[in-house]
Amino acid sequence: MKTFGYAAYDTTSPLAPYAFERRTLRGNDVAMEIIYCGVCHSDLHTARNDWGWSYYPIVPGHEIVGRVIEVGPDVSRYKVGDHVAVGCMVDSCMECDQCHRGEEQLCRQGMVGTYAGADRISGEPTQGGYAKHLVVREEFCLRMPDGLDLSRAAPLLCAGITTWSPLRHWNIGPGSRVGVIGLGGLGHMAVKLAVGLGADVAVLSRSPGKRADALALGADRLLVSEDAEAMAQAASAFDLIIDTVPVKHALDPYLPLLDVDGTLVIVGQIGPMDETSTVPLLLGRRRIAGSPIGGIRETQELLDFCAKKNILPDCEMIRMDEINHAFERMEKSDVRYRFVIDMASLAA
Ligand SMILES: [Zn+2]
Ligand SMILES: [Zn+2]
Repeated sequence: MKTFGYAAYDTTSPLAPYAFERRTLRGNDVAMEIIYCGVCHSDLHTARNDWGWSYYPIVPGHEIVGRVIEVGPDVSRYKVGDHVAVGCMVDSCMECDQCHRGEEQLCRQGMVGTYAGADRISGEPTQGGYAKHLVVREEFCLRMPDGLDLSRAAPLLCAGITTWSPLRHWNIGPGSRVGVIGLGGLGHMAVKLAVGLGADVAVLSRSPGKRADALALGADRLLVSEDAEAMAQAASAFDLIIDTVPVKHALDPYLPLLDVDGTLVIVGQIGPMDETSTVPLLLGRRRIAGSPIGGIRETQELLDFCAKKNILPDCEMIRMDEINHAFERMEKSDVRYRFVIDMASLAA
């Protein structure tokens, strides 16, 4: 299937138009026309090969909302015209214990990334959602529930599930006390989702300047991490802290804020860390954990939850040819809170 999109051609050049082929439909494949695609920090890291696993040309994009245009003969869950979505992965072994538990993101053989991956059958490089069409096996296709605003839903597929999964794993609900570090694409979703689950939510920020934004997103309060007195008062005040800061930073200031058995979960790839004191870990049986995206079942649960509760990311819609400018702005955190590409703007 011929298609076209925008690709990075090397580590430094701006993204540019790219014509390429999607695979011929297999029995269990769904083909979709992409309507919207969110812009994730990982897209930029991959375009620049910051993590060392890129190939070129590479088409980024793993917050994909589309409409089914064709299905393979064995597809049972979707039909032409359905609104669907694809997130950060397009395949896994489907046979290991993790896949059987619905945690394909933790597949023993490794999940296949929507981009920067290799197709499990053909070995061909996968290409993401900055494109007109996508072909995916139906098990990795999500259903967009009726009532969910398609134009704002795309960031749920990465930013949303990446924060939803730890909230669910640590059983956050009414009475839970949740802290969120960082108020970008992931952080703003962590706040909205934790509030939606009924938790008491604080945003942790270095400066008080984010207070109005935090409260507007539904947080109960802002805790200023440079304010020593406020931080001392907040000792043992959280059950879960979701750390969404995408660059290297110290964890030490935050660990004493966890209650006994509390967890600080890192959801971004931040590379090697500075030394962290183990004293607060021991004295409070506290944990530092990591969490990557979430499983397919959990992602569907998130989409259904957001439709029911009318929880949506705050998006800024852009045209496909504005992507390079969007990358520049994203690097300066100049977006509230996620760019979404309107794929109708992508002309052949
Ligand atoms: Zn992402
Ligand atoms: Zn597996």
